[in-house]
Amino acid sequence: MDWAYILGSVIVMTVLGLSVGNFATSLTYRLPRGLKIANDPPYCDSCRKYLETRDMFPFFSWVINRARCRFCGEPVPALYAFVELGCALWFNVTWFAFWPDAVDAYLLSLSLGVFVITLISLHVAEKRLFAVIVVLIAGLGGVWRALFDFGIMNAVISAYLGLMAGVVVWLIRSAIARAKQPFPTYAILLAVCALCAGRGQLVPLLALSMLATLALWLVGRKSASVRGSEGIIGMCLALLWLMLFPGFGKTLPSECSKVLCEENKGCQLVTVTDCHR
Ligand SMILES: [Zn+2]
Repeated sequence: MDWAYILGSVIVMTVLGLSVGNFATSLTYRLPRGLKIANDPPYCDSCRKYLETRDMFPFFSWVINRARCRFCGEPVPALYAFVELGCALWFNVTWFAFWPDAVDAYLLSLSLGVFVITLISLHVAEKRLFAVIVVLIAGLGGVWRALFDFGIMNAVISAYLGLMAGVVVWLIRSAIARAKQPFPTYAILLAVCALCAGRGQLVPLLALSMLATLALWLVGRKSASVRGSEGIIGMCLALLWLMLFPGFGKTLPSECSKVLCEENKGCQLVTVTDCHR
Protein backbone atom coordinates (compact mmCIF):
# COMPACT_ATOMS: atom_id res chain seq x y z
CA MET A 1 0.00 0.00 0.00
CA ASP A 2 1.46 3.33 -0.95
CA TRP A 3 0.94 6.60 0.88
CA ALA A 4 -1.11 8.23 -1.87
CA TYR A 5 -3.61 5.34 -1.67
CA ILE A 6 -3.80 5.55 2.13
CA LEU A 7 -4.22 9.34 2.14
CA GLY A 8 -6.80 9.26 -0.67
CA SER A 9 -8.76 6.50 1.12
CA VAL A 10 -8.72 8.40 4.42
CA ILE A 11 -9.99 11.61 2.77
CA VAL A 12 -12.77 9.88 0.79
CA MET A 13 -13.87 7.69 3.74
CA THR A 14 -13.85 10.65 6.14
CA VAL A 15 -16.00 12.79 3.82
CA LEU A 16 -18.43 9.90 3.18
CA GLY A 17 -18.50 8.94 6.87
CA LEU A 18 -19.21 12.51 8.00
CA SER A 19 -22.06 12.80 5.47
CA VAL A 20 -23.63 9.51 6.55
CA GLY A 21 -23.06 10.55 10.18
CA ASN A 22 -25.00 13.72 9.43
CA PHE A 23 -27.89 11.53 8.26
CA ALA A 24 -27.61 9.55 11.53
CA THR A 25 -27.90 12.77 13.57
CA SER A 26 -30.93 13.75 11.53
CA LEU A 27 -32.46 10.33 12.41
CA THR A 28 -31.61 10.96 16.09
CA TYR A 29 -33.53 14.22 16.01
CA ARG A 30 -36.44 13.33 13.73
CA LEU A 31 -37.29 9.72 14.62
CA PRO A 32 -38.44 10.37 18.23
CA ARG A 33 -40.41 13.45 17.12
CA GLY A 34 -42.22 11.61 14.34
CA LEU A 35 -40.84 14.04 11.74
CA LYS A 36 -40.22 13.24 8.10
CA ILE A 37 -36.73 11.78 7.61
CA ALA A 38 -36.22 13.29 4.15
CA ASN A 39 -37.80 16.11 2.13
CA ASP A 40 -37.51 18.70 4.89
CA PRO A 41 -34.39 20.92 4.77
CA PRO A 42 -32.40 21.07 8.02
CA TYR A 43 -33.32 23.85 10.45
CA CYS A 44 -32.41 25.07 13.95
CA ASP A 45 -34.49 23.45 16.68
CA SER A 46 -34.65 26.66 18.74
CA CYS A 47 -35.22 29.51 16.27
CA ARG A 48 -36.65 27.41 13.38
CA LYS A 49 -34.39 29.22 10.87
CA TYR A 50 -33.40 27.06 7.89
CA LEU A 51 -29.67 26.37 7.88
CA GLU A 52 -27.51 27.82 5.12
CA THR A 53 -24.91 25.85 3.19
CA ARG A 54 -22.10 27.00 5.49
CA ASP A 55 -23.98 25.60 8.52
CA MET A 56 -24.45 22.19 6.99
CA PHE A 57 -20.90 20.83 6.80
CA PRO A 58 -20.93 17.92 9.23
CA PHE A 59 -18.68 18.40 12.24
CA PHE A 60 -16.74 21.34 10.69
CA SER A 61 -19.72 23.72 10.91
CA TRP A 62 -20.17 22.65 14.52
CA VAL A 63 -16.53 23.56 15.28
CA ILE A 64 -16.54 26.82 13.27
CA ASN A 65 -19.81 27.99 14.85
CA ARG A 66 -18.39 27.04 18.28
CA ALA A 67 -21.12 24.47 18.97
CA ARG A 68 -23.87 27.09 18.73
CA CYS A 69 -26.56 28.10 16.27
CA ARG A 70 -25.28 31.01 14.17
CA PHE A 71 -28.67 32.75 14.30
CA CYS A 72 -29.90 32.43 17.89
CA GLY A 73 -26.76 31.29 19.75
CA GLU A 74 -28.44 28.21 21.28
CA PRO A 75 -25.96 25.35 21.90
CA VAL A 76 -25.94 22.49 19.37
CA PRO A 77 -25.55 19.17 21.28
CA ALA A 78 -22.03 17.68 21.20
CA LEU A 79 -23.73 14.31 20.65
CA TYR A 80 -24.29 15.23 16.98
CA ALA A 81 -20.60 15.98 16.44
CA PHE A 82 -19.65 12.71 18.17
CA VAL A 83 -22.01 10.73 15.93
CA GLU A 84 -20.58 12.32 12.77
CA LEU A 85 -17.01 11.68 13.92
CA GLY A 86 -17.91 8.13 14.98
CA CYS A 87 -19.30 7.34 11.51
CA ALA A 88 -16.22 8.86 9.83
CA LEU A 89 -13.99 6.69 12.03
CA TRP A 90 -16.07 3.59 11.30
CA PHE A 91 -15.91 4.21 7.53
CA ASN A 92 -12.10 4.39 7.75
CA VAL A 93 -11.64 1.37 10.02
CA THR A 94 -13.87 -0.95 7.97
CA TRP A 95 -12.27 0.23 4.73
CA PHE A 96 -8.80 -0.80 5.87
CA ALA A 97 -10.10 -3.98 7.54
CA PHE A 98 -12.05 -5.40 4.57
CA TRP A 99 -11.40 -3.55 1.32
CA PRO A 100 -10.66 -4.86 -1.33
CA ASP A 101 -10.50 -8.53 -0.22
CA ALA A 102 -14.02 -8.83 1.19
CA VAL A 103 -16.29 -6.27 -0.46
CA ASP A 104 -19.49 -7.90 0.84
CA ALA A 105 -18.15 -7.86 4.41
CA TYR A 106 -17.13 -4.23 3.92
CA LEU A 107 -20.58 -3.07 2.77
CA LEU A 108 -22.39 -5.05 5.47
CA SER A 109 -20.15 -4.00 8.35
CA LEU A 110 -20.40 -0.42 7.13
CA SER A 111 -24.20 -0.28 7.22
CA LEU A 112 -24.45 -2.37 10.40
CA GLY A 113 -22.02 -0.02 12.16
CA VAL A 114 -23.91 3.11 11.08
CA PHE A 115 -27.14 1.71 12.55
CA VAL A 116 -25.34 0.65 15.75
CA ILE A 117 -23.98 4.22 16.10
CA THR A 118 -27.50 5.60 15.42
CA LEU A 119 -28.86 3.28 18.12
CA ILE A 120 -26.28 4.64 20.59
CA SER A 121 -27.09 8.27 19.78
CA LEU A 122 -30.86 7.65 20.00
CA HIS A 123 -30.43 5.98 23.39
CA VAL A 124 -28.22 8.79 24.68
CA ALA A 125 -30.78 11.39 23.50
CA GLU A 126 -34.01 9.57 24.41
CA LYS A 127 -32.99 6.82 26.87
CA ARG A 128 -34.85 4.14 24.97
CA LEU A 129 -34.40 1.73 22.07
CA PHE A 130 -36.26 2.29 18.82
CA ALA A 131 -37.76 -0.87 17.38
CA VAL A 132 -37.11 0.10 13.75
CA ILE A 133 -33.33 0.47 14.36
CA VAL A 134 -33.17 -2.75 16.43
CA VAL A 135 -34.98 -4.68 13.67
CA LEU A 136 -32.65 -3.24 11.00
CA ILE A 137 -29.58 -4.28 13.01
CA ALA A 138 -31.00 -7.76 13.61
CA GLY A 139 -31.76 -8.18 9.89
CA LEU A 140 -28.37 -6.98 8.72
CA GLY A 141 -26.72 -9.02 11.52
CA GLY A 142 -28.46 -12.16 10.24
CA VAL A 143 -27.11 -11.60 6.73
CA TRP A 144 -23.69 -10.80 8.20
CA ARG A 145 -23.55 -14.11 10.11
CA ALA A 146 -24.95 -16.07 7.17
CA LEU A 147 -22.06 -14.71 5.11
CA PHE A 148 -19.48 -16.04 7.53
CA ASP A 149 -21.19 -19.19 8.85
CA PHE A 150 -22.77 -20.35 5.57
CA GLY A 151 -26.04 -20.74 7.48
CA ILE A 152 -28.25 -19.01 10.00
CA MET A 153 -28.37 -21.51 12.92
CA ASN A 154 -25.26 -20.13 14.60
CA ALA A 155 -26.85 -16.66 14.73
CA VAL A 156 -30.21 -17.98 16.00
CA ILE A 157 -28.63 -20.04 18.81
CA SER A 158 -26.34 -17.16 19.70
CA ALA A 159 -29.27 -14.72 19.88
CA TYR A 160 -31.15 -17.16 22.14
CA LEU A 161 -28.13 -17.52 24.45
CA GLY A 162 -27.69 -13.73 24.51
CA LEU A 163 -31.35 -13.28 25.45
CA MET A 164 -31.01 -15.89 28.20
CA ALA A 165 -27.93 -14.09 29.58
CA GLY A 166 -30.00 -10.89 29.70
CA VAL A 167 -32.86 -12.71 31.45
CA VAL A 168 -30.47 -14.14 34.08
CA VAL A 169 -29.15 -10.62 34.82
CA TRP A 170 -32.77 -9.41 35.03
CA LEU A 171 -33.74 -12.18 37.48
CA ILE A 172 -30.68 -11.50 39.66
CA ARG A 173 -31.49 -7.78 39.72
CA SER A 174 -35.12 -8.52 40.59
CA ALA A 175 -33.98 -10.83 43.39
CA ILE A 176 -31.61 -8.19 44.78
CA ALA A 177 -34.30 -5.49 44.60
CA ARG A 178 -36.84 -7.99 46.05
CA ALA A 179 -39.37 -6.80 43.49
CA LYS A 180 -40.00 -7.77 39.90
CA GLN A 181 -38.25 -5.28 37.63
CA PRO A 182 -39.70 -4.37 34.21
CA PHE A 183 -38.26 -6.50 31.42
CA PRO A 184 -35.00 -4.78 30.53
CA THR A 185 -34.19 -3.34 27.11
CA TYR A 186 -30.56 -4.48 27.51
CA ALA A 187 -31.71 -8.12 27.33
CA ILE A 188 -33.24 -7.44 23.89
CA LEU A 189 -30.14 -5.58 22.70
CA LEU A 190 -27.89 -8.33 24.09
CA ALA A 191 -29.84 -10.87 22.00
CA VAL A 192 -29.38 -8.73 18.87
CA CYS A 193 -25.66 -8.16 19.56
CA ALA A 194 -25.19 -11.89 20.17
CA LEU A 195 -26.97 -12.61 16.87
CA CYS A 196 -24.51 -10.36 15.01
CA ALA A 197 -21.43 -11.64 16.85
CA GLY A 198 -22.18 -15.37 16.59
CA ARG A 199 -21.82 -18.12 19.19
CA GLY A 200 -18.02 -18.20 19.00
CA GLN A 201 -17.84 -14.57 20.05
CA LEU A 202 -20.49 -14.70 22.78
CA VAL A 203 -18.05 -14.84 25.70
CA PRO A 204 -15.79 -12.06 24.34
CA LEU A 205 -18.96 -10.02 23.65
CA LEU A 206 -20.16 -10.36 27.25
CA ALA A 207 -16.70 -9.69 28.70
CA LEU A 208 -16.00 -6.67 26.49
CA SER A 209 -19.51 -5.28 27.12
CA MET A 210 -18.98 -5.45 30.86
CA LEU A 211 -15.53 -3.85 30.64
CA ALA A 212 -16.76 -1.04 28.38
CA THR A 213 -19.82 -0.47 30.60
CA LEU A 214 -17.63 -0.25 33.70
CA ALA A 215 -15.22 2.16 31.95
CA LEU A 216 -18.11 4.35 30.77
CA TRP A 217 -19.64 4.30 34.24
CA LEU A 218 -16.34 5.45 35.78
CA VAL A 219 -15.57 8.08 33.12
CA GLY A 220 -19.10 9.26 32.34
CA ARG A 221 -20.47 9.50 35.89
CA LYS A 222 -20.64 13.28 35.71
CA SER A 223 -22.12 13.40 32.24
CA ALA A 224 -25.92 13.44 32.30
CA SER A 225 -26.13 12.21 28.71
CA VAL A 226 -24.01 9.10 29.32
CA ARG A 227 -25.76 8.23 32.60
CA GLY A 228 -28.34 5.50 32.08
CA SER A 229 -26.91 4.55 28.68
CA GLU A 230 -23.64 2.99 29.87
CA GLY A 231 -24.77 -0.62 29.38
CA ILE A 232 -26.24 0.04 25.93
CA ILE A 233 -23.18 2.00 24.71
CA GLY A 234 -20.84 -0.63 26.22
CA MET A 235 -22.61 -3.46 24.40
CA CYS A 236 -22.62 -1.56 21.10
CA LEU A 237 -18.92 -0.68 21.37
CA ALA A 238 -18.08 -4.32 22.11
CA LEU A 239 -20.07 -5.41 19.05
CA LEU A 240 -18.38 -2.83 16.79
CA TRP A 241 -14.97 -4.05 17.93
CA LEU A 242 -15.83 -7.74 17.39
CA MET A 243 -17.31 -6.94 13.97
CA LEU A 244 -13.77 -6.25 12.76
CA PHE A 245 -12.93 -9.94 13.41
CA PRO A 246 -16.01 -11.67 11.99
CA GLY A 247 -14.28 -14.97 11.14
CA PHE A 248 -13.57 -15.44 14.83
CA GLY A 249 -17.26 -16.15 15.45
CA LYS A 250 -17.45 -18.99 12.97
CA THR A 251 -18.54 -22.34 14.34
CA LEU A 252 -17.85 -24.21 11.13
CA PRO A 253 -14.28 -25.18 10.35
CA SER A 254 -12.35 -22.43 8.64
CA GLU A 255 -11.87 -24.66 5.61
CA CYS A 256 -14.34 -24.83 2.76
CA SER A 257 -14.55 -26.21 -0.72
CA LYS A 258 -14.19 -24.26 -3.89
CA VAL A 259 -14.31 -25.17 -7.53
CA LEU A 260 -10.93 -24.51 -9.05
CA CYS A 261 -10.57 -24.46 -12.80
CA GLU A 262 -7.26 -24.67 -14.63
CA GLU A 263 -6.74 -24.36 -18.33
CA ASN A 264 -5.45 -27.82 -19.19
CA LYS A 265 -6.69 -29.90 -16.24
CA GLY A 266 -10.35 -28.87 -16.19
CA CYS A 267 -12.26 -28.11 -13.00
CA GLN A 268 -12.00 -29.87 -9.63
CA LEU A 269 -13.19 -29.44 -6.07
CA VAL A 270 -10.39 -28.29 -3.75
CA THR A 271 -10.24 -27.45 -0.05
CA VAL A 272 -9.14 -23.93 0.77
CA THR A 273 -8.37 -22.56 4.22
CA ASP A 274 -9.70 -19.03 3.77
CA CYS A 275 -13.15 -19.07 2.25
CA HIS A 276 -13.49 -15.33 1.83
CA ARG A 277 -10.55 -14.50 -0.33
ZN1 LIG B 1 -31.14 28.87 16.15
